[in-house]
Amino acid sequence: MAKRINLRAIRANTAYTFEEAANTLGVSIVTIRGWEKRGLSVMRLQKPFLILGCVLQEFIEKRIRNAKVPLDPDQLYCLPCRKPQIPMGRLVDYVPQTATAGRLVGLCPECERTCNRMISKAKLRDLAGKLDIAIREHG
Ligand SMILES: [Zn+2]
Repeated sequence: MAKRINLRAIRANTAYTFEEAANTLGVSIVTIRGWEKRGLSVMRLQKPFLILGCVLQEFIEKRIRNAKVPLDPDQLYCLPCRKPQIPMGRLVDYVPQTATAGRLVGLCPECERTCNRMISKAKLRDLAGKLDIAIREHG
């Protein structure tokens, strides 16, 4: 989701027409129709079709959670925590996946499980000084 959506503008116990929902959130009606195709439930028993505020909030929150999270150069993505983390001790292994790209693997400081990030080999150099990288060989 490129645009930042103001979830707080939506009132949970209010029903919105497509147009109202679009105006409130600052998105286009086309976007709202797209959401309907992706599972947003709309009350279609009578016109105008209405969307419940709480349903809309839940749908958008889910989308935000599933959206790709931008990572800082020294961060890995922790799946259990569902957020970027700076690996414990800033220690990571680079595990080659192809000749030109691989996976950075580190430990999450919060849940102590492994977190990952795909990276091109060429970019490893940029991380010097930010992360302590051990290069693993193909095994
Ligand atoms: Zn974690």
